[in-house]
Amino acid sequence: MSEEKKSLNFIEQIIEEDLKTGLNPEKLRFRFPPEPNGYLHIGHAASICLNFGLGEEYNAPVNLRFDDTNPAKEEQEYVDAIKKDIQWLGFEWDQELYSSDYFQQLYNWAILLIKKGKAYVDDQTSAQIAEQKGTPTKDGEDSPYRNRSVEENLELFEKMKKGDFDEGSHVLRAKISMKATNMLMRDPIIYRVLKRSHHRTGSDWNIYPMYDWTHGESDYIEQVSHSICTLEFKHHRELYDWFLDQVYDENKLRPKQREFARRNLSYTVMSKRKLLQLVEEGIVNGWDDPRMPTISGLRRRGYTPKAIRDFSETAGIAKRDNVTDIALLEFHIKNELNKTAPRVMAVLNPVKLVITNYPEGKEEILIAENNPEDENAGTREMPFSRELYIEREDFREQANKKFFRLKLDKEVRLKSAYIIKANSVIKDENGEITEIHCTYDEDSRSGSGSEASKRRVKGTIHWVSIPHAIPAEVRLYDRLFTDEAPDSHKDKDFKEFINPDSLKIIDNAFVEPSLKPAKIGDQFQFQRLGYFNVDDDSTSDKLVFNRTVPLRDSWAKQNK
Ligand code: ATP
Ligand code: MG
Repeated sequence: MSEEKKSLNFIEQIIEEDLKTGLNPEKLRFRFPPEPNGYLHIGHAASICLNFGLGEEYNAPVNLRFDDTNPAKEEQEYVDAIKKDIQWLGFEWDQELYSSDYFQQLYNWAILLIKKGKAYVDDQTSAQIAEQKGTPTKDGEDSPYRNRSVEENLELFEKMKKGDFDEGSHVLRAKISMKATNMLMRDPIIYRVLKRSHHRTGSDWNIYPMYDWTHGESDYIEQVSHSICTLEFKHHRELYDWFLDQVYDENKLRPKQREFARRNLSYTVMSKRKLLQLVEEGIVNGWDDPRMPTISGLRRRGYTPKAIRDFSETAGIAKRDNVTDIALLEFHIKNELNKTAPRVMAVLNPVKLVITNYPEGKEEILIAENNPEDENAGTREMPFSRELYIEREDFREQANKKFFRLKLDKEVRLKSAYIIKANSVIKDENGEITEIHCTYDEDSRSGSGSEASKRRVKGTIHWVSIPHAIPAEVRLYDRLFTDEAPDSHKDKDFKEFINPDSLKIIDNAFVEPSLKPAKIGDQFQFQRLGYFNVDDDSTSDKLVFNRTVPLRDSWAKQNK
């Protein structure tokens, strides 16, 4: 591995150094530790790709560990969704583990701390405790209960456990120092009373361990060699180490916490708490709404595991906070679908076009290439007739020279079909065009090899034959937020930046007949329009498509 040319990221460098200084490579072990209080998002994907990627690179096990210490917010639904998403991304965990399985062990260790005089029960309210905490420049104050006897602490802790005390009335605190420069070391709480049923342990416990206490000790129980977390835990490292010191046995491996910068993505928010708000307030239609930065939302939108993994790889991992441009994610899905998605024709804003010199009632089958980027993709049949739909935007009565689409008295090629020339229009009483009348050059059929077929015209437009067209609903998505960093504004709520036009539903689109058997999840390039997939809401009676991503990024043009 060290011989490889690829440059190592800083986490890999730390591991390499540990291996050089004596760590047995067989002891390498990683974990991905989600709290089951929401769905995974593209930020989690960074951590998943990092941890499972290290597992693959070093041939080391990676556990999936649910850090389920807060029964108030956790649910089985989230556990199931998290497992599904990780598998979908293509990773396999070694063991599925739960912090809640260690509640007894953690409790035993808490007793040990009390016996060593390193933990005490505090009867004060959280407000009183907060008041004594001090500030980074001012020492904290000792709790009046700090010097209770071991016996009294054991008795009170037992009562907390039995449910004799109300929530908020008693906590167990580590006895470290109220003068520590690191505020987290000022006698942190390790247990609180919570009379809540837990999704796995039911009503067994009336006390629950705090995250910091649980996390490091769980790493130790599982003998995780490198516990990789995000930067906001940097200050917690000292506490992580202090907790380990209390239980560490020299014959065992001592886990090491290291931090990397969270993945932030422009034009979205990434905290589960905020995503939950969007779901609960009905701003989006559930966690898998295609506008959400969740893995399930991206999947529904048409993102593939490969695109997400390629994105994570290119975006890399950093030591400092930063924002990754969402265009990078879009680049990766476009890049992949360009190679894999069959080309088809769909008209989203139809206007009728009549070829007046094409015989009435005649139909012919034209042959179109499925994917010029993939020589094995083959061809398909496209029925052609006298009446077609084209995009309303592809026609103008008059236009300047830069308009390469159809205009009166000018020619354009119908993709994979004939060259046509527009002659006249019919309008309704509001002046809106209802029909465009054209003539076609019978000898100009694409691929026929005739002189006329090789004739060069400036523009090519897509179309569908009206008698053969299938009606469809098409959902166009735009960024969910209008601001690049919606949750970075101190005086404004992130929801003030919701883009009111993030979803546009087109219910009178038409697609070519080859799409009739399309199934949920199938992906296509609608020629000239973008990449689309069949949405979960699609039925055999009504096809529903999502636009995964447009071919070109129109956002930059509109908003800069
Ligand atoms: P959120 O703030 O979104 O609720 P979290 O950190 O509370 O996220 P966890 O379930 O605790 O979510 O996260 C599981 C793992 O994923 C942790 O190791 C966490 O550090 C990592 N992680 C979470 N969000 C990101 C992110 N945006 N970028 C990289 N890693 C992340
Ligand atoms: Mg967390």
